[in-house]
Amino acid sequence: TTIELDEKESTEDKKLHTIVQRIIIFVTSEAAPYSKTGGLADVCGSLPIALAARGHRVMVVSPRYLNGVSDKKYAASFDTGVRLKVPCFGDEPEVGFFHEYRAGVDWVFVDHPSYHRPGNPYGDENGAFGDNQFRFTILCHAACEAPLILPLGGYTYGQNCFFLVNDWHAGLVPLLLAAKYRPHGVYKDARSILVIHNLAHQGVEPAATYHKLGLPPDWYGAVEWVFPTWARTHALDKGETVNILKGAIVTADRIVTVSQGYAWEITTVEGGCGLQDLLSNRKSVLNGITNGIDIDDWDPASDKHIPFHYSIDNLSGKVGSLLCMQSSSFAKCKAALQKELGFAIRSECPVIGFIGRLDYQKGTDLIMMAIPELLQHDIQFVNNLLIYVDRVQVFLDVLPYALVHPLLQKGCSAANLSADSEINGKFSYTLSVMLGSGDRRTENWMRSTEFNYKEKFRGWVGFNIPVSHRITAGCDMLLMPSRFEPCGLNQLYAMRYATVPVVHKTGGLRDTVENFDPFAENGNGRGTGWAFSPLTKESMLTVSLNIHAYSYSFPSR
Ligand code: ADP
Repeated sequence: TTIELDEKESTEDKKLHTIVQRIIIFVTSEAAPYSKTGGLADVCGSLPIALAARGHRVMVVSPRYLNGVSDKKYAASFDTGVRLKVPCFGDEPEVGFFHEYRAGVDWVFVDHPSYHRPGNPYGDENGAFGDNQFRFTILCHAACEAPLILPLGGYTYGQNCFFLVNDWHAGLVPLLLAAKYRPHGVYKDARSILVIHNLAHQGVEPAATYHKLGLPPDWYGAVEWVFPTWARTHALDKGETVNILKGAIVTADRIVTVSQGYAWEITTVEGGCGLQDLLSNRKSVLNGITNGIDIDDWDPASDKHIPFHYSIDNLSGKVGSLLCMQSSSFAKCKAALQKELGFAIRSECPVIGFIGRLDYQKGTDLIMMAIPELLQHDIQFVNNLLIYVDRVQVFLDVLPYALVHPLLQKGCSAANLSADSEINGKFSYTLSVMLGSGDRRTENWMRSTEFNYKEKFRGWVGFNIPVSHRITAGCDMLLMPSRFEPCGLNQLYAMRYATVPVVHKTGGLRDTVENFDPFAENGNGRGTGWAFSPLTKESMLTVSLNIHAYSYSFPSR
C-alpha cells in the first residue's frame, strides 16, 4: 500500500513512502495558453503541469476554440480520430477529441462546430452566446467519457480518477458521475472536486431546459433553483430555473475555492450569491486553497515580454522607479513603459496601473469616479514633502518592507541609496494606465478619459498578454479595487515584480497582500502592499495617495 506524501513529512519519512500516482482530469472552459479570459485559464494552464511534475497522470479537457485569431495555439494538437455522440439537447451531437502531450500533461481539446466562432470562450461583442448551456453540456459529457475511451500514450486513464471540475462550465460532471455513471457501476471509486473560481457565474437557465442536459428525469431536484424572495432582484434570478453550479455544489465530493477568505465569504449573505446556505451546509467538505502563480511565466528575471530583466539579486531593471530609488540608476522598465504609452519619461512620477476585466466585480466604476481627483494631484503637494524629508528616507518609510529589504540586504544603505539624490524634476502623482476588456461603457469611458487627460492617462482596450506583463513590471503601483475577489492573480504577479499592489481588503486580496500601515500601533514596518477598506472612492484615494500621507507622518524615521 502507498501513502500520499505530505509536504511536512521529514525526509526520512518521505523515503519510507512512495508517491501515489493519482489520475487527475481537469475539466475547464479555459486553459492558458490555448484559451484565456482570466485567472481560471492561468490556473488550469499551470497547475496540471505542476501536478504532473509530482508524478501524477494528468489530463486537461477543454474546448477547441477556433475564433480565427488564436487558432494556431492548437497547431501542435492532433485529431485522435475518436468520435463521441453525446445524448443531450434532444439529439446526439457528435464531438471529436484533439490531443497534445506537453509538459507531462495530456491536453485534450473537445471539438465541435459550436466552439468555432469569433469571440472569446463565452461571447462576442454582442454579449454572451445564447447556446452556452449547450456548449458546456457537451464539454462535460465528453470529459466524463474521455478517461474511458481515449487511448492516450497507449492506454486509457480508466475509471479510478479524480475529476477537478472548474466553475459552472464543468459543473455537470459531478452530476453525471452521480446520476448517469455510478448507478451503472461506472466511476464508483472516482471522486469529484468542484473548484469555485467565481461564484457569480452559475450557469442558470430556465427550468424547461432541464431535459436537455442528459440527466435522468428524477435528478431535477439537484439543479432546481428558485431564487429566495429576498434576492429576487439578483441578476441571476430567472424565476424557476436549473442552476448547474448549485447541482455541482450538492453532488461534488469536495469543494475548493481559490482562497480561504473567499471560502468563508461564500457562506455569507454578502458573498454567497444566493447559494450561501447550501455552501454552509457543505462546510465540512469546503476548503480554500490560495491560487499559486506560474513562476516561470511570470518571472522578471526571464520574462520574454519585458524589455529589461531583474531579480531579487539584480534589481537593475526596476531600480530607479519610485519603489527602488537609486539616483545613479534609471527606471528602465518604467521608462520603457512610459515611452511605449507616449508619456513623458520621468522616473520621479508615479505610474499607477490597472489590469483586468472591465467589470463591476473589478471596481472599475470606482476608478472611473476617482480618476478626475487622482489626476489632479501633483507637484505642489509633493514639493512640500520633498522640502522636509530626505527623498530616500521617504521611500524607505513608505515602501513595503519586502521590496526594500532586498536592496538593504545587498548593502545598499539608505545613505548610499540617497547619494546624489538631487531632487530634480517634479514629483506628480498623475500617470495612470488601464488595460482591460469587457463592458462597452467602460471601454468608451477609457477612450474619452485618454482624450481628456492626454498627458496623464492611457486606456488600453483589449486583451493583451505581453502588455499586461509590461504594465506589471513598469508601474509603481497596481490598483485592484475589486468589489469581491475570489483570489486575484494580478496582485501576486505585482508582488513578484516589485510593484506595489493597492487592493481592497476582500477575499483573496485580503489573504495575500500584507498591508503596510505605518500608522498602526505596534506596526513592524513590514508589508507587501497597501490594502484599503471600506470600498469607497475616498478610502481608495487615501491609500493610493499615501506616498505623501505616510511620509509626512514619519519624517525622521
Ligand atoms: P479574473 O479571473 O477574475 O479575471 P484574476 O486576477 O484571477 O481575475 O486573473 C486575471 C488574469 O487575466 C491575469 O492573468 C491577468 O493578467 C489577465 N488579464 C486580465 N485582463 C487582461 C487584459 N486586458 N489583457 C491581458 N491580460 C489580462
